[in-house]
Amino acid sequence: MSRLVRHTEVVEEPWHPETVAIVAGRDDVPGGPFNVPPTFASTYRDGGALGYGRWGNPTWSAFEETLGQLEGGNCVSFASGLAAVSALLAALPLGSRVAYPGDGYNGTRAMLAQLTREGRLTSQALNVVNTDEVLAQLEHTDLLWLESPTNPMLGIADLAVLLAAARDRGVTAVVDNTFATPMLQQPLALGASAVVHSATKYIGGHSDLLMGAVIVADGRARDELVTWRTLHGAIPGVMESYLALRGLRTLPVRFERQQRSAALLAERLSSHVQVTVVHYPGLAADPGFSRATSQMNGYGAMVSFEVRDAETAERVVTRLRLVIGGTSLGGVETTIDRRGRWEGEEHVPGGLLRLSVGLEHPDDLWRDLTQALN
Ligand SMILES: *Cc1c(COP(=O)(O)O)cnc(C)c1O
Repeated sequence: MSRLVRHTEVVEEPWHPETVAIVAGRDDVPGGPFNVPPTFASTYRDGGALGYGRWGNPTWSAFEETLGQLEGGNCVSFASGLAAVSALLAALPLGSRVAYPGDGYNGTRAMLAQLTREGRLTSQALNVVNTDEVLAQLEHTDLLWLESPTNPMLGIADLAVLLAAARDRGVTAVVDNTFATPMLQQPLALGASAVVHSATKYIGGHSDLLMGAVIVADGRARDELVTWRTLHGAIPGVMESYLALRGLRTLPVRFERQQRSAALLAERLSSHVQVTVVHYPGLAADPGFSRATSQMNGYGAMVSFEVRDAETAERVVTRLRLVIGGTSLGGVETTIDRRGRWEGEEHVPGGLLRLSVGLEHPDDLWRDLTQALN
């Protein structure tokens, strides 16, 4: 990495995120390729900075540098989002008390449940949208885990207030920024200790890879995460890193278009007779609207909506022709998932459908949704 001179290092005034996504993480060697190529190597010749493939890779570094600049910190990439979550939880001393969103990502909740069963830590589910409830729990908390918007209810937590309070009380605070992406919010700037991503989703953006990342403000915390990754082997693949950076370059433009279509569909869905509720923080009637407006640069591209019951929701999914039924999110293709069908999602209303809005023409998406709903 030290041999690389980055374009952005010589710039005093910071570039806009759209520009950072393009210029960061490139070599500046005359005659060299524009892009840092995938370096397929398990081992390197003696005498250089890299030794063995588990310790480092130039393709990981290019990705990390770009995402790190977008989030405003030091990035460490991992084999998946859950490997990144795991790295953060593994750093906790035995017996630590974790508070987490009761309607957060089910994989993170399952990991916390497992660690709690093993007696390694204690955990407390919270409604992170309720600021007073979180503040009251802080004195019994060592690690505050936050998601905003939450998955799949798209609730908005007051990040500025919660992160400032956590910092005042010496509570470590992590924000899972997968749904918002650095385009909408940068939690490190609000005082978060760490930001975590499933790069599998919007960052990769094409439903063709799994990868994760942690971004921290502090260089020592970064080194500790790298040590954990090296010792536990939770390293990303080289091809995945290459593709994730290729995805990241177009994140700003993809996300802008996807959230514009999401806002349009949320609006149309909320006046459809078969739809009982729409959860989208960009709707003026949504409980998260004013918070989202003040703390985010947009409202995201996830829309959850409810129909009468689980059976109706299942029927809608099977009748869709353009929108793909499937879990996961953040790809260029629009996907839909009845979240209540999954283990650990029993609290989600049975008729709730979570839509990840892609890059198809929004009128075609609406045509498909209405034919399935009617
Ligand atoms: C998917 C997801 C994860 C886990 O990431 P993987 O890449 O699937 O391991 C974590 N947090 C959120 C919010 C997610 O959507």
